[in-house]
Amino acid sequence: MMFLTHLVFGFLCGVIVSKLLGYGSSYLFVLVAVVASSFPDIDVLSSRISRFLSPFSVVAGSLFGHRGFFHSILALAALFLVVFSVFGAFLAVSAAVGYSSHLLLDALTVKGIRPFWPFRFRLRGFVRAGSLSEQLVMALIIGISAVAVFSGLR
Ligand SMILES: [Zn+2]
Repeated sequence: MMFLTHLVFGFLCGVIVSKLLGYGSSYLFVLVAVVASSFPDIDVLSSRISRFLSPFSVVAGSLFGHRGFFHSILALAALFLVVFSVFGAFLAVSAAVGYSSHLLLDALTVKGIRPFWPFRFRLRGFVRAGSLSEQLVMALIIGISAVAVFSGLR
């Protein structure tokens, strides 16, 4: 999936979960979810997040490969535990929401993800990155986001 698609879906998930957990429209919760939604692609040198963290990205990409550890539930759990131990539950949950949103979208792609890495089981879908199907998914997410922001989910 494209960078922007991940950010928009991270935003949508952040808004919905923030409201569901009783945080209202917490800008901090949503912002952390949006930032975290880009983080799994740290394992791709060409990704936007890798431009900010390039030394870490080189190590992550060469050790685990694209859509290996960083696209798994294990990485999600590790992120949650690290953020929880440093910043507490609020930011840990928001980071986990954004990170999960990335994994969910990538699971819809033809390449899929290996959620139980290092096991080989792969979840895949029908969406090709940058294709018309991704643009349709993106349009759907934007539409739902607009409704979520301007309706009762606010
Ligand atoms: Zn990804």
